[in-house]
Amino acid sequence: MLEQKDVIGRVREATRRIEPELIRIRHELHQYPELGVDLPKTHEIISRELKKIPGLRVYEHKAGGSGIIALMRGEKKEGKTILLRADIDALPIEEKEECEYKSRNTGCMHACGHDGHAAWLIGAAKILSEIRAEWGGCIKFVFQPGEEVGKGADTLIEEDRVLENPPVDMAFAAHGWPSVQSGKIGIARRYAFGCVGSFRVKITGRDGHASWPEQTIDPIAAAGEVYQHIPAILARKISGTESKVMSVTYIRAGDPKVRNIIPAVCEFGGTMRAVKKETLEIMGRELENETKAVCDVYKASCEVDVQIHGGAVENAPQLLDGVRSAAEQIVGQDQAYIIEGDNLGGENFAQYCERVPSVYMFIGIRPEELDDIPGLHSPQYRFDDQVLAKAAGVFAAIGYYGCQGSLEGIYR
Ligand SMILES: [Zn+2]
Ligand SMILES: [Zn+2]
Repeated sequence: MLEQKDVIGRVREATRRIEPELIRIRHELHQYPELGVDLPKTHEIISRELKKIPGLRVYEHKAGGSGIIALMRGEKKEGKTILLRADIDALPIEEKEECEYKSRNTGCMHACGHDGHAAWLIGAAKILSEIRAEWGGCIKFVFQPGEEVGKGADTLIEEDRVLENPPVDMAFAAHGWPSVQSGKIGIARRYAFGCVGSFRVKITGRDGHASWPEQTIDPIAAAGEVYQHIPAILARKISGTESKVMSVTYIRAGDPKVRNIIPAVCEFGGTMRAVKKETLEIMGRELENETKAVCDVYKASCEVDVQIHGGAVENAPQLLDGVRSAAEQIVGQDQAYIIEGDNLGGENFAQYCERVPSVYMFIGIRPEELDDIPGLHSPQYRFDDQVLAKAAGVFAAIGYYGCQGSLEGIYR
């Protein structure tokens, strides 16, 4: 049996050795981006690669047909069960940059880097397979479709029972992050992602000639008043210490070809985020109250539809130090760090971390020489291949320490 530092030495050596292979896998996935939960080619490539790995049992056709769960048991007797998850779907975006592995599916692109996530998780499975004699317990590698459309996690958990048999003790995931420099790893102190909600407000007045507004009920004026009140909802109804945001992303009324009629209907909607579901509920309720109050004054009628789609990704405090230390052993001292602020993007990894202690990492993909690179979901998005193998090593180290129960540190 090797000492821990020798095992990590083997992990580091393996990360260097498998790097070209992981880059090849990502480039192949990048050429065949697919949407939602129906990802036949993605499924084929990932399954093909996983089946080459000794000691890995591959369960295909999960999560509605495109998800893959692969199970590896360590050769030591005892150990915990660790879940490592990668999302694998792409986006309906036309790739703008030229490269030899450019998307072959018109109007579809891996613009969120999930091709990289799949490749680094395959890499982690390769490394953990090589050091199987050194750990006990079970590692579940989960390749989840549908992240971009808020699906996949629910099916894997509720129908495919991915958190059971054997029951999962901890779960880990990561995203390639353009604002973090390549080689570094950021870990949120608490919320890696926020709760996601959306709203739609439809105000119906009475249409009529624009020269005599007093004979109409102007839904645009009413909508304008509601819109202006949104900052007050955030600032006066919710504690100033809480992270939250509300953005109107569309507004529709009238006809640009007809300038002399006040229309009957104005509709707008958008997104709202917070770290607590209760806060989203307050935001939705206050928006509804405000809309009704304004419409009362205008004598308009209204419909307010508020949806809460998902919870927050909250990192487990007892795992933070352990994960940071495991990551640093691969990427180097001080290269993994704690991010104090909350991030209000959305991620349905929330469905795992609501059920088991979890940590989500932001893996840097911005090359050191560049100050700024295109963001996630940009048609110019670029993934830095140099981080693939290191990320695979980080996941392998987390799996190795996690199975031994040595990630739980003291919360600082
Ligand atoms: Zn995305
Ligand atoms: Zn993503």
